[in-house]
Amino acid sequence: MIKDYDADKSLRKAYDFCILGAGPAGITLALRLATAGWSVALLEGGGREYTPRSQALYKCTSTGLELYPGEARLRYLGGTSNHWMGRCRPFTASDFAVPPPVDMPGWPIPYAEVERYLPGAMEIVDLPQGAEFRAVNAGLNGGDFDADRFLLSPPTRFAQKYATALNETPGLDVFINCNCVDLLFDQAAGQLKAVQVSDYDGKRQPVTARNYILAMGAIENARQLLNSQSLVQAGVVHKDGLVGRCFMEHLNIDMGTFVLRSGEDTEPRQYFTTDAFVAEYHAGKGNVLASVLADVRTYGRTAEVKYFLENLACEMGVASKIEFVAKFSCPGDGVISTLIEQFPNVQSRISLLDEQDDLGVAKVNVNWVLSASDRHTIKCIGSELAKQFAEMGLGFVKLNDYVYDTSLPLRLSPHAHHMGTTRMAANAKDGVVDTNCKVFGIENLYVAGSSVFATGGASNPTMPLLQFALRLADHLNEKMRAAKAVA
Ligand SMILES: Cc1cc2nc3c(=O)[nH]c(=O)nc-3n(C[C@H](O)[C@H](O)[C@H](O)COP(=O)(O)OP(=O)(O)OC[C@H]3O[C@@H](n4cnc5c(N)ncnc54)[C@H](O)[C@@H]3O)c2cc1C
Repeated sequence: MIKDYDADKSLRKAYDFCILGAGPAGITLALRLATAGWSVALLEGGGREYTPRSQALYKCTSTGLELYPGEARLRYLGGTSNHWMGRCRPFTASDFAVPPPVDMPGWPIPYAEVERYLPGAMEIVDLPQGAEFRAVNAGLNGGDFDADRFLLSPPTRFAQKYATALNETPGLDVFINCNCVDLLFDQAAGQLKAVQVSDYDGKRQPVTARNYILAMGAIENARQLLNSQSLVQAGVVHKDGLVGRCFMEHLNIDMGTFVLRSGEDTEPRQYFTTDAFVAEYHAGKGNVLASVLADVRTYGRTAEVKYFLENLACEMGVASKIEFVAKFSCPGDGVISTLIEQFPNVQSRISLLDEQDDLGVAKVNVNWVLSASDRHTIKCIGSELAKQFAEMGLGFVKLNDYVYDTSLPLRLSPHAHHMGTTRMAANAKDGVVDTNCKVFGIENLYVAGSSVFATGGASNPTMPLLQFALRLADHLNEKMRAAKAVA
């Protein structure tokens, strides 16, 4: 049943599970666990639709590369699935088998552990059962780039698709406008004793459950852990520990431009680095999208002015001269963009600010930074792509200077794929959650979503994070069944 916490605060005295955040991860877990017969509270900070009062709670500052953390997430029922694009590409065995060439370990589990949840995750995002992740073009010769393989979800809007299930699944209480504002730790028991929730007037009450799951997205999962005074005082969370660190994005680099040999098909092409490329160059993985623009790209309020300027400049043949004041490409230009892996890096992090939001939760700063290894990946992908384009006689690639010269600032944008801030590891020295997504040092607190990713590969995160959510649901079912059997 979906209840509005503004008007109805009738939470049960205790639940088997309390899940914070109703995006793809939280909704998936809530439905699995309630269907298995457990009592579940799914607590969502936003309402049924977008509201400025909820979205304002996502405001953060950023010190590193521009991440747009206030805009690249949606804070209401369904979470960011309300505007995701639906591109799905699964992890592969090499994502788990090959550790990153940096001082942080990779995944502590083999891919087989999550691969078996792929059919379930595909069903959730409405991909046909058994469908193959297909290539839309051929790969490049030379062994460095295969064709990329992906499928497009409709895209599934979780709040709409699962509205009936959220309303009607027995044992499931969904509260909207119900904000998690604190995690209350019982040091003697080594577990959470409650989460503190708040309405928009700042009125708080504790919610009690046997197990708690953070599913608020990678920035908020870390924020809530860092914000909890009881966890910090007990020494379970350290202000300068790993919580919030290793924040990763996928890198959309404006690599440069290309001209196709005349007669070449102008359809967009998508390539993906091979495992051989990764091994040879000790680089990350990456998708490269080469597309010939059919029309000028314009965004935002300045679109009309840009249209005017761009058309004029393109017609006059002076586009490159004024590009520094109005960055754009002309129709017919080939542009190269990417979705490139970022390696885990402790300097790339979420940290608390002294300032609090309207509900008394500390605000955060995002310091999204790249390392020399990431610049190396970008350089290798760019230069090998350019070489192989030319060698195959497809056309010519002109790379932007910063691809080669790593001392120059990059022109890049984020993909809104936030990962790594509560990374999975074999031990607490290297991560925040264990191989079952349980927070180290807390017996009944789990994390769902791409914050648990140890590495992010170059696969879109949503379908993989659903695989992890399904795996976590199985684990929690087992845990509860075992506890019941003992009792
Ligand atoms: C424009 C855009 C396009 C995208 N396209 C793709 C794509 O093609 N493929 C892909 O794989 N991914 C894509 N993504 C990323 C995708 O949206 C996310 O991976 C996915 O939504 C993450 O799911 P989640 O459940 O972990 O978190 P979210 O979707 O962020 O959900 C978190 C939920 O927690 C709630 N919440 C937050 N704080 C609190 C609190 N204090 N108390 C209670 N509730 C709280 C929020 O309101 C929200 O409902 C895209 C993202 C954007 C912005």
